Amino acid sequence: MTRDYYEVLGVNRNATEAEIKKAYRKLALKHHPDVSSNKAEAEEKFKEITEAYEVLSNPSKRSTYDRFGQSGSQQATSGAGFGDFGGFGSFSDIFETFFGGGFGQSPFQAQNRSRSRPSGPQRGPDLAADVEVTFEDSIFGTELQLGIARYERCEHCDGLGAEPGTEVKDCPSCGGKGEIQRSQSIFGAQVIRIETCPECKGEGKVFETGCKRCGSTGRVRITKTVPIKVPPGAYTGLHIRKPGEGSAGIRGGPAGDLIVMLHVRPHDVFKREGDDIYCDTSISVARAALGGQIEIPTVYGPTKISVPEGTQGGTTIRLKDKGAPSVHRRSRGDQYTTLIVEVPKNLSDRQRELFQELASINGEHVPKASRKSKVFNTMKDVFSANDHT
Ligand SMILES: [Zn+2]
Ligand SMILES: [Zn+2]
Repeated sequence: MTRDYYEVLGVNRNATEAEIKKAYRKLALKHHPDVSSNKAEAEEKFKEITEAYEVLSNPSKRSTYDRFGQSGSQQATSGAGFGDFGGFGSFSDIFETFFGGGFGQSPFQAQNRSRSRPSGPQRGPDLAADVEVTFEDSIFGTELQLGIARYERCEHCDGLGAEPGTEVKDCPSCGGKGEIQRSQSIFGAQVIRIETCPECKGEGKVFETGCKRCGSTGRVRITKTVPIKVPPGAYTGLHIRKPGEGSAGIRGGPAGDLIVMLHVRPHDVFKREGDDIYCDTSISVARAALGGQIEIPTVYGPTKISVPEGTQGGTTIRLKDKGAPSVHRRSRGDQYTTLIVEVPKNLSDRQRELFQELASINGEHVPKASRKSKVFNTMKDVFSANDHT
């Protein structure tokens, strides 16, 4: 046996419509199966309070119930469409349907505003592109001409989608509003739903003949060349944004942006870390030992510096402000050059003589002829022997 409807909602018999509504909302939020830990029990409870509300919120059903009680009201409501609870979706669905935008509204008159009209102007999508530049261009900056495929407003129909000269009129289905109202009976009460007009797809306009150039979309796909300014000091991963160079907007909305992601090709000599540049430079044994002027490559051209007598291999030389310009600050990085002492490979007789002399001064024992030259002589003998046979 069902409990008394007033008891179910926790209101007294003289409760106003507003009090009944308030009580129902409170209980519906509390007992909705989606928010309750005990689903089955909550479902039962929810059914009960909804049934009570359905009767007490309707003045004529309420008076029947007041006079005849449960049986009278059940007779009165039979066929009114109190359907299966399972017909409802998620928690948010039911509250969208019942309560719409705010609790101030009558629940059954609430209009579903969350599915807003799609017929307004829409911003076009952003486009992304990757570009590769040389190391030098990344340091000094450059301007690239980037070919991109994108949508633009159709000039032929001015973005309207109608063939010029043909009639454009308000959609007969929705009267130009782009949306239509559907009424639906839920729990015997009328629920008004606002839906996008299927005839004009929310545009509010229909035309006799669609634009032949754009297929009535109002946009055409084109390939356009967009100049891209690569700033001095640009680095891999830098994003360059070109506002309004993305795809065209819809229904007169603004175009999206073009976002270019930069990649810098590796360089044979220079490596970049932050705004600093690193490289290796080789110097001769004699220069390392004697010291003096050496030439160091930089992205700005070679620079001459002096190294002291007895410069060791592996020494790092810092050249201030010879690094990359900073994209974000008015400064430049530094260059760090590591010196590699180059030992000569194919010694001339004179060079060998001098190194031997050096070795003997240092008290080192050095064989008169190197192993390599011995091997070479033997090979020569073999070949000349073969020549004679
Ligand atoms: Zn067109
Ligand atoms: Zn329409």
